[in-house]
Parts: sequence; C-alpha cells; structure tokens
Amino acid sequence: MTVTRFAPSPTGYLHIGGLRTALFSYLWARKNGGKFLLRIEDTDERRNNHEATEAIIEAFKWVGLEHDDEIFFQSERKALYTQYIQQLLDENKAYYCYMSKEELDVLREQQMAAKERTRYDGRYRDFDGETPGDTAPVVRIKAPLSGPIVIRDGIKGEVVFQAEDILDDFIIARADGTPTYNFVVAVDDALMGVNEVIRGDDHLSNAPKQIVVYEALGFEPPRFYHVPMIHNQDGKKLSKRDGATDVMAYKEMGYLPEALLNFLVRLGWSHGDQEIFSFEEMCALFDPKDINKSASVYNTEKLDWLNAHYIKNSSNATLVTLLEPYGITLVSHDKKEILLDALKDRAKTLKEMATMVDEIVSTPKTYDAKAVKKAFKGDAKAILEDFILKLQVRDEMHLPSDYHEAMEELVNEKGIGFGKIGQPLRVALLGKLSGPGLDTGMAVIGKEESIRRISSAVTGIDS
Ligand code: GLU
Repeated sequence: MTVTRFAPSPTGYLHIGGLRTALFSYLWARKNGGKFLLRIEDTDERRNNHEATEAIIEAFKWVGLEHDDEIFFQSERKALYTQYIQQLLDENKAYYCYMSKEELDVLREQQMAAKERTRYDGRYRDFDGETPGDTAPVVRIKAPLSGPIVIRDGIKGEVVFQAEDILDDFIIARADGTPTYNFVVAVDDALMGVNEVIRGDDHLSNAPKQIVVYEALGFEPPRFYHVPMIHNQDGKKLSKRDGATDVMAYKEMGYLPEALLNFLVRLGWSHGDQEIFSFEEMCALFDPKDINKSASVYNTEKLDWLNAHYIKNSSNATLVTLLEPYGITLVSHDKKEILLDALKDRAKTLKEMATMVDEIVSTPKTYDAKAVKKAFKGDAKAILEDFILKLQVRDEMHLPSDYHEAMEELVNEKGIGFGKIGQPLRVALLGKLSGPGLDTGMAVIGKEESIRRISSAVTGIDS
C-alpha cells in the first residue's frame, strides 16, 4: 500500500510551497488507494505548536485535503525515539561522545586552517578509555565514512553521494537526551510505514543522513521524490515579496480553493498541455513521475486566470455564500441572478467581485471629482433629466435590456452619441466612470432607486 505523508514543522501558518507538496502526496496516496498521513514535526519546544497546528488544520479544511489516521505529533513520541537510540547504543551502532564545545571549536579551526572539510573526527567512536566526568555526552551514530550513499529518487533519478564528502558520525541525541531532526524523521517515516516521500528538494541534502539511520535500524528506506522549488519570475526562490506565502492569505484575497489547488498542481507537474483540473481529475491523473526536473515559476496572472475561471463556473447560489465573508448579503435580493450573471464574467477574485457588488447596490457616497469634470459638461444635466422622464413613463422595467432600450430611445431622439448619456449616468449611479454595465446596474437597483440616484446627482453636483 502506498503511504505518503506531509510533515510540516509548525511555523505559524501553512506555506504555499508546503501545500503543494502536501497536495502531491495526498493525490498520490488517493490515486493508489493508499494513505496520506499528517505529522507535525514539533520537537522544537520554543514554538507555539498548538496554534501552528491549528493554522495547518484550518488551511487543510479550507482546501479540502483530508489526512488519514490521527495527526501525529513528534512531541508525543519522545519515548519511542529514546528507545531506538538505546537500541543503536546496545548494538554498538551508536556511541556516547564526550567532546566539549571548546574541543570541537579547536578541531574546527585546525581543519579550516588545513583547508579540510570540517567534520567530527570520530575520536570517541571506539573509545575505551576513561570518560571525562564533566561533559554530558551526546549520542553519535556510526556513519559509513567512505563509499557511496545512493538515493532512489523518482524525480532526480539515482542520486549518489560519497560518504567521505558529506558525512561524519553525526549526533542523533543531544546532551539533554533530545533526538535530532534527521533521526526522528527517519524513525517516524519507517514506523508509520511511509514508503513514498514527496517533499521539497531543499531536503535532498538530509536524505543521506536519514538513509544512514534507516540502515542502522534495519528499516527499508522509502522511495523519495524531491520536488524542485517554486521560483519567482527572476528565477529566485519564492519569497513574500513575490506573492503571499500563507495559504490562508489566498482565502482573504478572494481566491477559491479549487483555483489555488489547480494552480499548485500545475506548479511543477503537468499532464499534456491541460491547464484546468477538477479535484477528481487531479486525483485520477496525478503521477509523480510527471513532476518536472526544473524549478517551477510562480505566476500571479495564471492564478488570477484560473480563479476567474472557477468564479465564472460557480453557481449563483454558491457565489452568494462565498461573498458573505466579504460583507455581501444577497440571499434575499430579488435581482441577484442578473447581478451575479453579469459580474462573474468580470471578477478575478471574490474580493473584487464583492467590491463590484457593493458599488452597484450602495448609493454612491461621493462623486469622483475627475469623473464629474469629464462627464458633467454642456447639457449633461438636461440629458439626465430627460432620461428620468423616460424612466418614469415606462412601467415594466426589470431586465437590463429594458434599460438599454430606454437609453437607446433617448440617444436616437436627441441624435447624440451613447457616451453623452453614458458618462454622466455612470457618475450619477456609481459615483465614478468605471464599473459594470449601466443597464445591468439599473436593472439590479430598480427603477425607483435609479431615478433617485440620477436626481441626487442633478441637484447635488456643481457643474
Ligand atoms: N519538517 C520538515 C519541514 O517542514 C519536512 C520534513 C520532511 O518532509 O522530510 O521542512
């Protein structure tokens, strides 16, 4: 059975790059009818693990990723790690090292002076002398000191490290008994049956040490997939300056979870030239063998394009619910269908859509001075007054086309261009020159409110 996992160190929020590898791991487990585990790597006690864990769970809920089994917390598994450290000590595969910090510093300086790689020199590896009483020992694992360490990587191929270039007998337990990072990752993955590890390639350099731990404990190493990083447009690692890194910030900005997942699945993975993937399609088609070997590039326009697609394809009932967190209540608005049909083709985000709705349904509080200057010249006010009369004599005014006809009739009678009425009308209704179609806007607010807004502009605007 395929068992994958996502193993975040709690940093306070779920990082967008983390969500991408979590998604890859999730999809691969689902596709194979396997399991996707969530493990919180919270051995660093200085951090607030509870809040950070909540933030990860909240983000998982929002995008709809479900993990199997209970959530594992490394902070609750200390006894297990101690047991395996003891096992390695008993089997003489690990040993106590009493080297003090000062001695380590001296060694380091000597190695640097000799232009050698700085590394622990193994002086306590097979030590049988008198141990110094004043230094609490660390536990070091006996690592292979020469020869190849081979990583079977599903993206990078076979990656071969030479032990003499990268390894020394590294520490697996600190002087206070706490286990170190690479040790616990390997122990946990092995004990949890994780056999496919999909993670960022910033962890590739940890893999040899983890393999040493696997081998010492007699566990079978997993198959690794080290996914290339997400880069910005300049080819550098993605940072906060390029776009939000906190997943929940995307919710606030008005992105749909479907759009975000679709965006992320395509960052580094492809299936032909298909761009749009429903969740079901992703589950059916994802295969880590199709992950690109080079870094992917973060592109906001692409995300906006996908988001616009998902907004456009949402039902109006869904949009009513989605707009609520942005302060827009349309449940009982009798023209919500007209309004949403018109706006869902225009909005890139829910936030933008909420602003557009608000601009239509709320009476303008101010009139944009530049727009007034541009639109209210000549006989603009007289044209608006004539338009009020046109509206007053018409009874059945429901659809955008009803309003369009009224405007058309007026411009034809007066022999003027559409802009002559369009511009002042826009300022009167919306307070500015940009915005959605006027016929739609008037149909949404209705005849009475349209007349009220136009009259207020005629009397209230000095021109
Ligand atoms: N805890 C590590 C991190 O958050 C990930 C460990 C792993 O995936 O092996 O970067």
